[in-house]
Amino acid sequence: MKTSEKKIYVTQPFLPPLEEFQPYLEQIWESKWLTNSGPFHQELEKKLAEYLGVENLALFANGTLALVTALQALRITGEVITTPFSFVATAHSLLWNGIKPVFVDIHPETFNLDPEKIEAAITPHTTAIMPVHVYGKPCDVEKIQKIADTYGLKVIYDAAHAFGVSYKGESLLKHGDLSALSFHATKVFNTFEGGAIICPDAKMKQRIDDLKNFGYADEVTVVAPGINAKMNELQAAFGLLQLKHIDKAIDRRREIDAQYRKKISSIPGIICPTLPADTTYNYAYFPILIEKDYSLSRDELNDKLRQQGIFARRYFYPLISEFPMYRGLPSAVQSNLPIAKVAADHVLCLPIYPALENESIARIISIIKGK
Ligand SMILES: *Cc1c(COP(=O)(O)O)cnc(C)c1O
Repeated sequence: MKTSEKKIYVTQPFLPPLEEFQPYLEQIWESKWLTNSGPFHQELEKKLAEYLGVENLALFANGTLALVTALQALRITGEVITTPFSFVATAHSLLWNGIKPVFVDIHPETFNLDPEKIEAAITPHTTAIMPVHVYGKPCDVEKIQKIADTYGLKVIYDAAHAFGVSYKGESLLKHGDLSALSFHATKVFNTFEGGAIICPDAKMKQRIDDLKNFGYADEVTVVAPGINAKMNELQAAFGLLQLKHIDKAIDRRREIDAQYRKKISSIPGIICPTLPADTTYNYAYFPILIEKDYSLSRDELNDKLRQQGIFARRYFYPLISEFPMYRGLPSAVQSNLPIAKVAADHVLCLPIYPALENESIARIISIIKGK
C-alpha cells in the first residue's frame, strides 16, 4: 500500500515487539494466577510507582473505574465542580456516584478548569473539585489547592492524559487528594484497557484495593458496595513490558511535536498552544486551534484531512455539558461556559504516536498548508 493511501489515525496503540511478550505469557500459564493481585500486578504497581515518582499506586481495570472508585474512597457526595472540556468519563464518574456535576469554564490558554471561576460555583453542597490535566498539561494545582483548603474541599484529578508528567521537578500526580490515570489503548502508556489511582499513603491504598475488589477487607468482611475493577495478569504483564520501552516512545512523541510546531505555528490562522512551563511533558496530544484568518473552518479542515485518510480528532467536541444527561443542569448553559465553547469549536488534535513516520507528518503539514 502506498503511503498516500494508508489511513492515519489520531493515535495508534504503542506495542512493543511481540516476541518480547512470549516469556510473560509462559509465566502466566505456569503459575495459573490470572487475576486478584497476582505477581505481575504486584510488580507493575511497584515499578510504576517508581517510574512515576509516587509512593503508592493501585492498578485498575480501566481509568473510568479508577475515577468512580476515587470518589467512593473519599466519600464524596453532593456537588462536585468539574470541567465541561474533557472526555465524557470525567462527568460520568460523578453520576455513577450519585453526585451532581457543576460545570465551571476553562482557561483560554491551558484548556484546564479556570481557578478564578471556581469560587463562584461553590455552594453548601460542594464537597470536591474534579479538574482534568487536559492533554497532559498541568492544571493550576497551587491555586486549586488553595481554594480547596479555604473551603474544606477534596481535589480528585482526572490525570488520564498525564502519565509521566512532572511539574516543578516532582510528579504532577502527587497533587490533590487522589489522581486517576488511564492506560487505555489510545493513551501514552497502555495496558489494552487499564488505569490506576495514585494514593497518598498505604492506608488509602488499602481502602482503594478493598473497594476495587467488591469491598472485601478480608475473607468475611465487606466494608462498602465496592465494584470489580481489578487489573488482570495479562494487562499487568503487558504494562511491565511496555514500561521498558516507554522512555523511547515519549522521546519519539517529543520529536513529532517539534516537527509540527516548527512548521505549523507560522501558518496564518493556526495556533499551536505553547508547551507548559516548568513541566516535563509527555507529548500526549498535539492540539491546534483553527482561527478566522485560516482559509478553512475547523470542520472543513477536518473533512479535508479525512478525505486524504487522515483522521484527526476534535478533542473535545461536543462539550460534556451538551450531552443529554448533563444539558439540563443549570451550570451547563452556554453562557456559563463561553471559553470552553470556543475551544470545542476551534480545536483539532493532530495524529501523534511513536510509530508515526516523518513522511506522514510532512504530508499532514502540507495539507494544512493548503498544498
Ligand atoms: C481516557 C479518559 C478517561 C477514561 O479512561 P478509560 O481508561 O478509557 O476508562 C477519563 N478521562 C479522560 C480525560 C480520558 O481521556
